[in-house]
Amino acid sequence: MREKKRRLKKSNPTNKKIFFLLMLQSAIVVVAALGSLFVSELLVMHFDAAYVDLTFLAIVIPIAVVIGVINYFITKLIYRYVSLLAEGIGKVAQGDFSVRLDYRRGGPLAEVFGNFNKMCAELSNVEILKNEFLNDYAHELRTPITSINGFARLLLESDVTEEERRVYLELIADESKRLAELSNSTMMMARLDSQTIVPDKKEYNLGEQLRRSVILLSVDWGKKGLNVDGSEIKDVFYQGSEALMQEVWCNLLSNAIKYTPKGGEIRVRVDEDAENVIVSVADTGEGIGENALRHIFEKYYQSDKSHAAKGLGLGLAIVDKIVKLCNGKIEVESAPNEGSVFTVILPK
Ligand code: ADP
Repeated sequence: MREKKRRLKKSNPTNKKIFFLLMLQSAIVVVAALGSLFVSELLVMHFDAAYVDLTFLAIVIPIAVVIGVINYFITKLIYRYVSLLAEGIGKVAQGDFSVRLDYRRGGPLAEVFGNFNKMCAELSNVEILKNEFLNDYAHELRTPITSINGFARLLLESDVTEEERRVYLELIADESKRLAELSNSTMMMARLDSQTIVPDKKEYNLGEQLRRSVILLSVDWGKKGLNVDGSEIKDVFYQGSEALMQEVWCNLLSNAIKYTPKGGEIRVRVDEDAENVIVSVADTGEGIGENALRHIFEKYYQSDKSHAAKGLGLGLAIVDKIVKLCNGKIEVESAPNEGSVFTVILPK
């Protein structure tokens, strides 16, 4: 096995070249040592033929040989580390990002081996993210596209009544709206994935922003006859990105509206202490089971798949990402049929 490995390493053309260069270096050292000795002896003989310093030869030749041998072994050792690295780079070039080098066997190149491993880990993360994204996205695209296709075919049939035509067109309009929302939310997720700092930070009245968000969604909660209580929204000033925070509040409020049955209540609070701004959105809706609570912040998760028509399963994942980007945290208290309370804590 070991023998096979060694043969493999030598058969690699890059390794062969490195090996050749390092060996050439050893040979040059020996030839240079012997050559300089030869020239010096020639000079001595030329100027004084009778004088040949045998003692000098007896000392310098063994020294040159010893230097050559030592250089040979050092070269071989360095070659071993470099060839391991070259082999690793070769695998990465062929798209294998799972390759890792044992930095304990890296000798003087241990740090380079460590950095090589970090680079491979980063590259595999990007690869995993890309594949995950494509799988998820393709899956989420399929449902609305299948519906649109199905209803369009039904519309093409000649015996469709005026009433049926209206229903199918409404469904096509809903599904295409869903596609547009999916594309917006996915873009938002992708942007947040690569974002490490909060953009366009400025101080603004967060309480006012929540009041405006409640009004913005008044058509939705009005339609369901929900009572929205914003009496505990204080004027609190916060330094952050107004656009990103707007996304958070709209998602939390939309969910509260979506998952609260007709006639229910939603209560919004904004408060602060010495270190944090605290926002909570409470509803008297259907609540969330213990098992679902563990997953609600995951991308595309929906505790009840029959809700699929109501949402995309991206809202809370986006909220979670934004809150984390702001170094804050989000907590949920909920139980089935007992409503939910989402609390966002943002450091000032
Ligand atoms: P969706 O688009 O399905 O609303 P979200 O990421 O916003 O996706 O939420 C994930 C899941 O969490 C929802 O499918 C729902 O089951 C649950 N959920 C979120 N908010 C609430 C809430 N206020 N009340 C009950 N369930 C909720």
